[in-house]
Amino acid sequence: MHKASNSLQKKLQELSKIIYRAATILPKCKSCGTCIKYCPLELREFNKEGKAITISTSISCGGCTVCYHRCPEQAIKLVRLSKNTI
Ligand code: SF4
Ligand code: SF4
Repeated sequence: MHKASNSLQKKLQELSKIIYRAATILPKCKSCGTCIKYCPLELREFNKEGKAITISTSISCGGCTVCYHRCPEQAIKLVRLSKNTI
């Protein structure tokens, strides 16, 4: 196989293992509920302290960025994970 396509394949393989997950910067969350309303996978819920968090279910977040962009407080960050770690 051609050398360039080998390295491209390797890169694509690495990228396919990367996944993102939305995580709340808890002190910044003002409990407005916007992320809960707009998450297309319904993965956002209030915790006992009334802060919105990403819940763990059989469906994984993946980091679509909807909540990240909708949060008026910039209280959500996208954390990079490796598929091997989830
Ligand atoms: S990144 Fe997307 S799927 Fe994940 S919690 Fe936010 S809105 Fe939901
Ligand atoms: S949109 Fe932001 S401030 Fe509002 S509940 Fe979600 S994380 Fe908290």
